[in-house]
Amino acid sequence: WKHAPPTLRALLEASRGHGERLMTIHEDERVSYAAHARAVAALAAELVSRGVRAGDRVAIAMRNLPDYPVALFAITALGAVAVPLNAWWSGEEMRYALDDSGARMLIVDAERHERLIPLYGLLRHLGDVLVTRATGTLGRPATALEALIGPPAQWGSLPERPLPPVALAPDDPAVIFYTSGTTGRPKGALGTHRNLTTNIMSSAYAAARNALRRGEAPPPSTPRVLLTVIPLFHVTACSAALMGAVASGSTSIFMRRWDAVGAMELIERERVAVTGGVPTIAWQLLDHPERARFDLSSLESIAYGGAPAAPELAKRLRAEFGVWPQNGWGMTETMATVTSLAAEDYLARPESAGLPVAVADVIITDDEGVSLPVGTAGEVRARGPMVVAGYWNRPEATAETFVEGWVRTGDVGRLDAEGFLYILDRAKDVVIRGGENIYSIEVENVLQAHPAVSECAVIGTPHRVLGEEPVAVVRLIPGAAAGETELQCWVRERLAAFKVPAAIRFTAEPLPRNANGKILKRELKGLFRERFAA
Ligand code: ATP
Ligand code: MG
Repeated sequence: WKHAPPTLRALLEASRGHGERLMTIHEDERVSYAAHARAVAALAAELVSRGVRAGDRVAIAMRNLPDYPVALFAITALGAVAVPLNAWWSGEEMRYALDDSGARMLIVDAERHERLIPLYGLLRHLGDVLVTRATGTLGRPATALEALIGPPAQWGSLPERPLPPVALAPDDPAVIFYTSGTTGRPKGALGTHRNLTTNIMSSAYAAARNALRRGEAPPPSTPRVLLTVIPLFHVTACSAALMGAVASGSTSIFMRRWDAVGAMELIERERVAVTGGVPTIAWQLLDHPERARFDLSSLESIAYGGAPAAPELAKRLRAEFGVWPQNGWGMTETMATVTSLAAEDYLARPESAGLPVAVADVIITDDEGVSLPVGTAGEVRARGPMVVAGYWNRPEATAETFVEGWVRTGDVGRLDAEGFLYILDRAKDVVIRGGENIYSIEVENVLQAHPAVSECAVIGTPHRVLGEEPVAVVRLIPGAAAGETELQCWVRERLAAFKVPAAIRFTAEPLPRNANGKILKRELKGLFRERFAA
């Protein structure tokens, strides 16, 4: 027996055992676990020869390519810290994170390299830049990644070699993931190996728990085909999807760019069992007019989290798609999942975000941190081996957010008597109308259940007397009709009168969302002022 500590390095070593089973598929590139491990060992040796040492930050800026996990495992195997950058960021936003993290090296794809060329001169700490999929000249002192480890098709022919020897402990830092920046400037959450690998255990137990709650034997965990459409720079894709897949020898399919038809083609062709990521993805599959054209019978479950999911979604996925829906709640600061629920448990409580995973504690508190009784709404706090110790370089934000072992989530929620968590709103989005709290998610869920509504958001708008009142921005399903009064009546029939939006404005364009499908309410408030007022 080998000791297998909960580190990404140990996970990688163990993954060699999956041999010729496919680890990643991207367009016509198919990479086996054996080939992947060889590429990681080759890149790790290269990084050492370029001076990368434990604790150094190495940034990754690329779309979901097979090279992504190669870079991630090579960096972290050395005890260095991987810094995944949001691939949607502009050059200037990437520059901020490269500076903030003090990255000494960058592994980047050709598109993002282009964006950074004018800015490299401003980055004091940055040394080597390794560019993958470059076609022309590199435009700056940089090295083609393929010159070091070859293209994916040749990774299987690289020599088998051990990883460079490094002393590595589970509580060593492994990653800096930036928060989504929904409520302010993204903060870097410094995660350890244990923070990340905890997800593997959490999700394995959550899968078993569903069976145990029904009084059945848990099913053995078998390798599956997963369609991973959310970007790997979000911690959910990395820890919940990728790490889980590597632990079970599953195959992750990456898409160059998300589109529903392309996804359905892949589900049919590769017999995909699990997909999802965020609620918007599930909605787009569900509502797609061409859905019947594809054989999607291999799909077992559609799993999502990261943003509020209307109860309608779970019900419709089960009824119309015949798959099990699965929801999970967490944040970058918890390196992904804190609560989850699936199958019958979820269908019985489609408003819930789930039970805490086996190793997590969740409490509801007032502003002073005093626990509130069951059923009362308050601030959600979480604790467990997945919660990071703090933010990179942000002592004040760290002191505010991480208090006596608990992370203050900034979410408002409640727990029921059985321990299920309900996320009501972000504290910053709660609309306070004349002293009454209106949780925007509650009103959005009701609007979302209207047959003509495609997507909606409820935001507060200033009111002279009441302080604030709720307004809804709605995009209708193409061809469907519903007016302001009809939708207001729909809400009035289902919720207290004070929760009815004072105005409903319609837009033909998709609502502004970030890379993991979250509605950008700050941006929407700006748009509302400019375009909808009067
Ligand atoms: P920032 O902290 O930079 O403003 P962010 O909070 O959106 O951005 P993330 O860490 O990606 O950054 O998102 C975590 C947040 O997402 C949670 O605090 C919660 O508000 C929301 N969230 C995650 N999962 C769920 C879920 N299942 N249901 C409802 N909300 C969710
Ligand atoms: Mg946050």
